Amino acid sequence: MARKFFIDNNFENNLIEISGDEFNHIVNVSRKIVGDEIIVINGKGLDYNCKIVEINKKCLKLKVLSSIICDAETKSDVTVYQALVKSDKLELITQKLTELGIKRFVPFVSSFCQVKANSTRVDRLDKISIEALKQCGRSKSVIIDKVKSFNEVIDELNQYDLVIFAYEKSKNSLKDVNFINSKKVAIIIGSEGGFSEEENKIIISLKNVKSVSLGKRILRAETASISLTSVVMFKLGEWENIWKLVF
Ligand code: SAH
Repeated sequence: MARKFFIDNNFENNLIEISGDEFNHIVNVSRKIVGDEIIVINGKGLDYNCKIVEINKKCLKLKVLSSIICDAETKSDVTVYQALVKSDKLELITQKLTELGIKRFVPFVSSFCQVKANSTRVDRLDKISIEALKQCGRSKSVIIDKVKSFNEVIDELNQYDLVIFAYEKSKNSLKDVNFINSKKVAIIIGSEGGFSEEENKIIISLKNVKSVSLGKRILRAETASISLTSVVMFKLGEWENIWKLVF
């Protein structure tokens, strides 16, 4: 798959100007020259096939030749609510969930979090997610929210058809969760310290929430987040590679 390059601005009359890091990647790392064609994305879901028409010292100019809807995007609308964990783990989770195709990522504070809200660099999470987006061939940016409070998360869960809550003490199995007609799905994962009993009760009390066990072992938050999101994507049919069926 051709490497994609990201622009965070819109463009008019089919002309794009690129400078900064992406200029460096295109000219100095990928050694592209005038006349070469590259794929550019602006995070809205389209791949723009462009031709390099001019290269200057610090910026280059592209002409947009065509655009197509990226076929690597998931059809499902999955949001993951992740209670704050240490930044290296939060960055790993952000990268992997972007690759897995989630639409939105919401870091939030719960009472057992060992990390403070103001120590979470959402701008870094954004950067990591965009790098993962380009690497895995996606074109629609993951929406990464500012850190929310526990109550803010609870207040917005009613918008989902299905909320899957990873709860160590749950007696429910994921295989009994009905994903049919679940267009808008949320997943909730705790921090390294998990949730308080009070928080567990509040989450489980919501009518569209299904608590599930991830087995007898206590998984680290990042293991739980990445593996549960993987299984949910599989159950939503996002692991079918249609091309295999055709050829
Ligand atoms: N409460 C755990 C620590 C939290 S593990 C302990 O007693 O040590 C981090 C998060 O991963 C949990 O809040 C939960 O959302 C998820 N998780 C880990 N293992 C799980 C399991 N076996 N079943 C369901 N969720 C699990």
